[in-house]
Amino acid sequence: MSSIQNKIEALRKELNHHNYNYYVLDSPIISDFDFDMKIKELEKLEAKHPEFYDPDSPTQRVGGEITKNFETITHKNRMYSLDNSYSKEDLLDWEKRIQKILGTTDIEYTCELKYDGASINLAYEAGKLVKAVTRGDGFQGDDVTTNIRTILSIPLSISSDFLENFEMRGEVILPLEGFAKMNQERIAAGEEPYRNPRNTASGSLKLQDSSEVAKRPLDCLLYQVVSEERKYGTHHDSLKAARDAGFKIPTTMVLAKSVDEILDFVNQWDVKRHELPYETDGVVIKVNSLAQQEELGYTSKSPRWAIAYKFKAEQVSTKLNEITYQVGRTGAITPVANLEPVLLAGTIVKRASLHNADQIEKLDVRVGDTVYVEKGGEIIPKIVAVDFSKRQKNSIPTQYATHCPECGTELIRTDGDAKHYCPNIYGCAPQITGRIQHFISRKAMDIEGLGAETVELLRKEGLIQNYADLYELKTEQIIPLERMAEKSAQNMIDGIEKSKNIPFEKVLFALGIRFVGETVAKKLAKHFKSIDNLVNADFETLIAVDEIGDKIAESIIDFFSNEKNIQLVNRLKLYGVQLQISEEELINQTDKLVGKVFVVSGVFQELSRNDLKKMIEDNGGKVSSSISKKTDYVIAGDNMGPSKKEKAEDLGIAIISEQEFLELL
Ligand code: AMP
Ligand code: ZN
Repeated sequence: MSSIQNKIEALRKELNHHNYNYYVLDSPIISDFDFDMKIKELEKLEAKHPEFYDPDSPTQRVGGEITKNFETITHKNRMYSLDNSYSKEDLLDWEKRIQKILGTTDIEYTCELKYDGASINLAYEAGKLVKAVTRGDGFQGDDVTTNIRTILSIPLSISSDFLENFEMRGEVILPLEGFAKMNQERIAAGEEPYRNPRNTASGSLKLQDSSEVAKRPLDCLLYQVVSEERKYGTHHDSLKAARDAGFKIPTTMVLAKSVDEILDFVNQWDVKRHELPYETDGVVIKVNSLAQQEELGYTSKSPRWAIAYKFKAEQVSTKLNEITYQVGRTGAITPVANLEPVLLAGTIVKRASLHNADQIEKLDVRVGDTVYVEKGGEIIPKIVAVDFSKRQKNSIPTQYATHCPECGTELIRTDGDAKHYCPNIYGCAPQITGRIQHFISRKAMDIEGLGAETVELLRKEGLIQNYADLYELKTEQIIPLERMAEKSAQNMIDGIEKSKNIPFEKVLFALGIRFVGETVAKKLAKHFKSIDNLVNADFETLIAVDEIGDKIAESIIDFFSNEKNIQLVNRLKLYGVQLQISEEELINQTDKLVGKVFVVSGVFQELSRNDLKKMIEDNGGKVSSSISKKTDYVIAGDNMGPSKKEKAEDLGIAIISEQEFLELL
């Protein structure tokens, strides 16, 4: 080995070790500055000597590679869910069940926290990370290797005295502090803050640009080793060895010998969990002996050898100071409880949702009441009850708002609707802004270079009154606006121009027709193929479409009976926005499978399950997840479950192969 190569190798090894100290053990032994100097030195050497390139070098972890489509990968070993328990009784029942199967009471358990993030499976071959796949539906997930490689606590290669070929399972999480920082930056940039760390972590894995992923403070906590090699006898030993080999296995894990010891762990963390740097929603208890695990096996959904214990949602009581009303983009009114600030689940809560008028009436919530506030998985807490013992004598029943707090129009409520609405669709500021904000959003027209705040600014400045106006904006009009540079103005105009290529189904969703969400928009686009067909469809035609009910049909008719909306649509058409499905889509779509119900089961050679499902739907068929009398065909791949097969045979349903399916078309 040349001395240069030696030097490069030594630096890589040293830097990997510092990464391990910093990200896994949380105890760095050199300063950030010294680390940066060493990385720079290595970068220089590598640039000078490209012959020693190594994709696993610590210099290669800043990302840069773009993934356009995440490939679907079938898991070698299925990723199961966990059964849940909520009480001591549940745990005792579980213990009894497994004692019976194992024929012994000599069972040891591990207790781990249940990390709340996005599940991931990391496959290592010959000690090197080769593939990282999301859990997906448990059978197949998405290949997110490129993005995962940017997470510094995940080793790209490990020391050889662990296993050679194995999988590590864990959760990619976004620690609370990093999440808060990301949101501060977003708010400062005028963007919507992210809702919660879990969704943001899982969304991060599906970003196309891995250098964006590298910028996010993601972490990965591991909880299971999967391997054919029987080197370790217990779950606990295998995780300890994995930690030594470089994986981040939280040290909170303990062994327990009984349900009482398990409950000690649960009770301890139910209180202490708010001191953790990340979120946890419970504890996972596992049978420690791998031989016993094997004997216990799996149900159709989860391992028998493990169970999750869910922490109870937390509750506090505080005073309700005021009820205010928010107006959404559809005019829907949401009552908001303004509370005396109180500490709940580690954060100060000042506001809680009250949902709608019925909820207020049902709970008999009144201003001045002391109320119980609860926080579950959602970011916004809710009021669950009133403490009537503290109600003041002079308290007055809540009168729900009668007029819009934004524009003063009288509110309406239609039968069967839980919400009140402000009917002043074209004159109520939050509705005007909200509709345009919805139009430009990611899942709709996905307009780059234009954010929610800017929409508000443009509307206030009188430059836009509706989404069609966007297409008439000129850079000269935008540049003079506050905080607008020439470059960002140009980006906005380019983004708007680009949105003219967005497919019809998304445009239909973007229009903001009440009750027409993403899925309904897809259905409608597929069925009617163009906006003109949809505009001309009457009630009967609409409800004849699969999954379109009265409510949706009425809302569509209502939308297009408004001259203003027809004008908007006509203008969009004029600007070149896609208001019919493309030629290509037209060719791939037929009515050949109309009325036929399919169940797709197993693993396929040529097409992914998702491809198959799309083809069925594109050709008018329906996909169902379970076999019943209504099923016409079961498309069977490899490893189709034996119980499914039996059921199909019992009901006399045709079982066809992938090839036979293609022939149907
Ligand atoms: P659920 O999705 O509620 O059925 O819970 C199962 C999921 O919990 C698994 O897919 C894991 O991703 C996740 N999980 C989090 N922490 C752990 C842990 N310590 N052990 C096992 N699974 C865990
Ligand atoms: Zn209004």
